[in-house]
Amino acid sequence: MRFEFATAQRIIFGPQTVNQAGRLAADLGRYALVIAGRDPGRVAPLLQLLREAGVGATVFSVAGEPDLETVRRGAALARQEHCDLVVGFGGGSVLDAGKAIAAMMTNPGDLLDYLEIIGRGRTLAKPSAPFMAIPTTAGTGSEATRNAVLASPEHRVKVSLRSPFLLPSLALVDAELSRDLPPALTASTGLDALTQLIEPYVCVRANPMTDAVCEEGLRRIARSLRAAFGNGRDGSAREDMALASLFGGMALANAGLGAVHGLAGPIGGMFPAPHGAVCAALLPHAMQANLRALRLRQPGSPALARYETVARLLTGNPQAGADGGVDWVRSLVSDLQISGLGVYGIKEENIAELAAKAAQASSMKANPIVLTPAELSLLLEQAL
Ligand SMILES: [Zn+2]
Repeated sequence: MRFEFATAQRIIFGPQTVNQAGRLAADLGRYALVIAGRDPGRVAPLLQLLREAGVGATVFSVAGEPDLETVRRGAALARQEHCDLVVGFGGGSVLDAGKAIAAMMTNPGDLLDYLEIIGRGRTLAKPSAPFMAIPTTAGTGSEATRNAVLASPEHRVKVSLRSPFLLPSLALVDAELSRDLPPALTASTGLDALTQLIEPYVCVRANPMTDAVCEEGLRRIARSLRAAFGNGRDGSAREDMALASLFGGMALANAGLGAVHGLAGPIGGMFPAPHGAVCAALLPHAMQANLRALRLRQPGSPALARYETVARLLTGNPQAGADGGVDWVRSLVSDLQISGLGVYGIKEENIAELAAKAAQASSMKANPIVLTPAELSLLLEQAL
């Protein structure tokens, strides 16, 4: 057995821990670029905490999933304002933007120099500026991952900036920040978290540490995602979801993902579809496609037993078989009112191109079995 495990330098978890943000930021720098979401007013209390701790701040708002231009503008602003610290306060888009901006504050050249596929694919040479991640949704686990997903509208793809330097200096996880998240976002981000616990658990690079966090995360999602969707003010459900999201991030960063994320990348590059909702729509179909292919071509694969464990953790039934897990996820996706992919404008005629791009995606390489183009196409068709 060989493995490596890396995560955020420091993780602070718990209710009201966000109140320590000022003091913690003061340990990391003197002037912060604060990355906010669509509504920059939400960071007003954070700015107050920073001020009280003697940390100056400039706010940079990120309205949707970040693209290359977002990162370039953010890094330019940070340089102009002489920022020595980045604080991301928001969902996965805000945190990913913050990680990429912090990296480009210290590394020379253009962002494209460091991107695979569309750029020169160089490795980042210098540690990023200190980055504090404060998630306000529970899904992406970006506070514990070493990549930032960025869209390139010009190339119609999403690419990852990847480096161990992207791991945040501090993940400050306060589940109370997610209590006002509307049910639709609780559903799509929560199902992304579920996907990010199932895919690393069954993938070809799983290791005992990622297994441990995945199993614990799955238990918590099983008991709490429906509850958080039904009542956002349910504090213990929100706490479970924040932990499940963090664990999903730890797992994917150290094991890998699979077919859902392999397909979600190209879909997100070609259509204006939010990542979590895409993963949610694909998840039960991808589980089913993997099980069918494994039984057909690799009946001795350990992934089959892992799917069975997933089913038992999700259903709470120690006798459940792997298909019981697929049924459980399918009814959860339906109860949480997740739309099919068709609502984002994806049509039958796009399927072949999406399947071909997905087969090349880096996430696909960790899938427990290589799915054929026909299997990927069928899976997409079912998710429409
Ligand atoms: Zn995801």
